[in-house]
Amino acid sequence: MDIKNFINNEEQIPLSGFWLDNYEPASGTIYGEIPNSNEDDVEKAYQAAKAAFPSWSNTSIDERSKIMLRIADLIEENLGALAAAESRDNGKPVWLAQAVDIPRASSNFRFYGHAITQYATKAHESVGKNTMNYTIRKPIGVVGCISPWNLPLYLFTWKIAPAIAAGNCVVAKPSEVTPATAYLLGEIVEKAGLPAGVLNIVHGNGASCGQAIVAHPDIKAISFTGGTTTGAHIARTAAPMFKKLSLELGGKNPNLIFADCDYDKMLDTTVRSSFANQGQICLCGSRIFVQQEIYERFKTDFVDRVKNLRVGHPDQSSTKVGAVVSAGHREKIEEYLAFAKAEPENYRILTGGNRVIVKEYEKGYYLEPTVIEVSSNDCKLNQEEIFGPVVTIMPFTDEAHALELANGTKYGLSATLWTNDLSRTMRMTQEIEAGIVWVNTWLNRDLRTPFGGVKDSGVGREGGFEALDFFTEPKNVCIEY
Ligand code: NDP
Repeated sequence: MDIKNFINNEEQIPLSGFWLDNYEPASGTIYGEIPNSNEDDVEKAYQAAKAAFPSWSNTSIDERSKIMLRIADLIEENLGALAAAESRDNGKPVWLAQAVDIPRASSNFRFYGHAITQYATKAHESVGKNTMNYTIRKPIGVVGCISPWNLPLYLFTWKIAPAIAAGNCVVAKPSEVTPATAYLLGEIVEKAGLPAGVLNIVHGNGASCGQAIVAHPDIKAISFTGGTTTGAHIARTAAPMFKKLSLELGGKNPNLIFADCDYDKMLDTTVRSSFANQGQICLCGSRIFVQQEIYERFKTDFVDRVKNLRVGHPDQSSTKVGAVVSAGHREKIEEYLAFAKAEPENYRILTGGNRVIVKEYEKGYYLEPTVIEVSSNDCKLNQEEIFGPVVTIMPFTDEAHALELANGTKYGLSATLWTNDLSRTMRMTQEIEAGIVWVNTWLNRDLRTPFGGVKDSGVGREGGFEALDFFTEPKNVCIEY
């Protein structure tokens, strides 16, 4: 697939003429090229967005909504092609892209297509002072959206949909590692009637293309999802220009399992929350803590289940674990595995820990799903984000201990709690330091709720009306009569 930038509703090659190889993780081979865009391409995209803004920001809400709903329909109509493209880029099983990533991308447009028609502002009458205050919310102008490779179209559209619904024009960059679905989105939005310049997609490296978006003096807001270190760098670049920032960053999420939980449901879900998408979901429960009473039982059952997860080519429906996203990322995960192997007194590998060679795809980036028993939460593997098919487990004694372990990290993205004790649920959900706590479930999403992390997992919220708040600026009008 030859990928091009999408600027002003036209396919454009990079102005520098430089390209990057696009790898297929399942086979470890190059299957296309993508533009290696730089600040000149970003400037071109910015100019297109700027030119489109006066008209788009004054387009009626009904019309904007109609176009967004058409985009949602077209994503659904192209489910098969989009899922295949996403799987090819990312290494995830096709069935997963079909069941989760692409439908959720469509819901992002559908939700914000509807939400913008319900978005309202408030008026405050100052009784006795003959004064009326009301708030207008104006789109910001040209905004930047930058997303990672793990859930490519899903996270890309989660930013773009509220931005354009609110009347902004966008310069967006998907991860250079997974550009294909963003490229296909360009065709879709054009077909749906989105005017030229409203959405501009530039492909390329984070350090050049992404940085040019963040550093552009007239791109006034940045919505970014990615690693914590990158997020800190973006904040340093954007802060002196007083840009609005939403940063959705890394996680090291605890999965707290109490003896009184619904055991079978917990076990099924924990296998999923550990290894879905090869463990490359920012919300995966990578630190599993189990109450002492059921620790040995859980350990045996969980390891049995993990040993039976089939690692294979993403096209096969029996594949549960596909390829990790890149050779470089596999090496990073393997560094953690080597570290664990070198310290057997602190890390006991219960299953996994090695590469998998998939027949006919020997160069693909496959890894065994891995479970490591740790003796302390302070260890490297419990403190650093691995972002792969690797989870740690350790026991806890009581609620206070569970809480101490859960909060004992710099991250605070999500947590999962397994218990049937209502009082415990109420107590612990108050105390766990995370942007979302799932109780007896995982990855359940209601788009009306705000989403985001605390501590080093980021600032700002996506989802719900909060995202429309982010992509608009409030102006108060105060009238004395
Ligand atoms: P990165 O931070 O490396 O990259 C994210 C995006 O930012 C990519 O498009 C990247 O481009 C771009 N980028 C890199 N450097 C810069 C820069 N200086 N200026 C602007 N843009 C830049 O993250 P990954 O892609 O590796 O994604 C994995 C990370 O994302 C994990 O830490 C994960 O936890 C986090 N994540 C967080 C989520 C959340 O909701 N909180 C959800 C999903 C993932 P390029 O790819 O070309 O480098």
